[in-house]
Amino acid sequence: MNKNLVTYSIIFLIFISLFGFNFFLSLIGNLLLLIFLIPLLILSVLLISFNSLKSKVKTCNQCGTITLGINNNCMNCGADLENKNSEGIESLKKPSETTIEVKAEEIK
Ligand SMILES: [Zn+2]
Repeated sequence: MNKNLVTYSIIFLIFISLFGFNFFLSLIGNLLLLIFLIPLLILSVLLISFNSLKSKVKTCNQCGTITLGINNNCMNCGADLENKNSEGIESLKKPSETTIEVKAEEIK
């Protein structure tokens, strides 16, 4: 352990004599920057992966369990998750029907 410390200190002194103290300051600055940037990078990657997972996650309209988009069927009850899309289109149609009803009431 002591030998290692001595060799490291010697290498450190040699590097200081070769590159100067400013180089080390900049190196330490860069290292600190990296230490700050790496967690940020990991966080951003996690956020991106989380968002992609969120888009893949589907909720079953039969039982309400959340399943990943890999399966087309619900993991709990086995209902088709792709039916959810067609029902979504139907739910989009429903407001137009209601507006038609409202118009009919207005005519009366
Ligand atoms: Zn289900």
